[in-house]
Amino acid sequence: MIYAGNFKTNHTRASTANYIEELKDKLRGKSLEDRVYIFPPATALDDYEGDFTIGTQNAYPAQNGAYTGEIGLEQLDEFGIKSILIGHSERREYMAETQDKVSQKFAFFQEQGFEIIYCIGEPLEVRENGFEDVMKYLLAQFDGIDINYDKLIVAYEPIWAIGTGRSATVEEISTTHRALKNAINDRPLLYGGSAKPENIKEIKAIAGVDGVLVGSASLDANSFSQMVLS
Ligand code: PEP
Repeated sequence: MIYAGNFKTNHTRASTANYIEELKDKLRGKSLEDRVYIFPPATALDDYEGDFTIGTQNAYPAQNGAYTGEIGLEQLDEFGIKSILIGHSERREYMAETQDKVSQKFAFFQEQGFEIIYCIGEPLEVRENGFEDVMKYLLAQFDGIDINYDKLIVAYEPIWAIGTGRSATVEEISTTHRALKNAINDRPLLYGGSAKPENIKEIKAIAGVDGVLVGSASLDANSFSQMVLS
């Protein structure tokens, strides 16, 4: 299983370092085949050592240059960062990242050999229109994306389940993952949306779920490690 923690705009450099120390200790009990990723805010990126991978929540598709407020490859290379989240719904919505921009970013980091956790997800009104519309919406988020990239991990995150405390149902996750797995040639597929210690066992048991992308419940090292060790 894959467990990825997305801190978003939470934690400082100091609190991330404390978190990592705590996590390192707790992960001693984890199965060898389980993989853990932490995506701290950009100011907390560092070359931490432990049985996990540090990735970046975002970066500009350039080595360096005049891109005010962004970080590029040069800043990631400093810490040996080779994993990135691309296409998160919050960036698509609040930072107006269009499918075109998302796919350009994907192509750049693919070219650089990054492991890419590529996020897709539908808003509530699309879910309420029925499954056919959901799949149409989700598949459009693969426009311009090389689904055969060998370092691609897809994260299905229904927008209405993110940060709301209301996870998708087992049935919703199960049918959507089954259809997505077919579409992405069986690449690893994570579920994201209010995954937490209370529902992790149920989510992990669903066929077609290869792991979870976790926001809120990853912010506390104890809660996140409980999920990893569940
Ligand atoms: C996310 O935003 O990637 C996410 C899954 O958030 P949460 O776990 O808080 O729903």
